[in-house]
Amino acid sequence: MIDSELVSRLSYALDLDTEEIQEQEAEYDTSIRPKIKLRYLSHLVATVEDLVNEKKAEVFLQRAPQDEAVLSGHLKTKRLRLYSIVLAPVPFKRKATTRHHKFGAIVFFNASFNDRDKRILIAHELGHIVNRELLLKTDSEGRANLFAFFALNDKNNFYLDEAKKHTFPGRELEIMSSIDAICPILKG
Ligand SMILES: [Zn+2]
Repeated sequence: MIDSELVSRLSYALDLDTEEIQEQEAEYDTSIRPKIKLRYLSHLVATVEDLVNEKKAEVFLQRAPQDEAVLSGHLKTKRLRLYSIVLAPVPFKRKATTRHHKFGAIVFFNASFNDRDKRILIAHELGHIVNRELLLKTDSEGRANLFAFFALNDKNNFYLDEAKKHTFPGRELEIMSSIDAICPILKG
């Protein structure tokens, strides 16, 4: 939670009531942050989803009649998807499993594992999806683990080498001044 001095600073800088700032903080903490946490490896999930979707859209469009240009447009701009990946934490005894269906996949993973292990399980299950939908190779546990290795290694390198560039060492005050520099509030 941000302290009262920071609330006053934000209130002054953004020309907003302190109550409104506290309300928005509570809203972010209760409804947005917990959900961000559940979207493990979301860039990776979305990228695999995009690639499978592009492939399915291409096949679909080859079969679609000419007068379905509107539908084609929606598919090309991704407003309409033919494939989606859903992550579902469940209280089961298994580690993880994936249910493949015509329009996507549901990755079920053990809700009681710690975050690091959940990410490993999800990366492995994404490996099965990539094998099956993109590489069209014989799916196996070894190939799923190989994908998990490349994906987690890539993420790990990002966190170790790149992520610092995206942080604000001066924390709240540096974030406030950076936002103000890029998106200044003009007071009337
Ligand atoms: Zn597996």
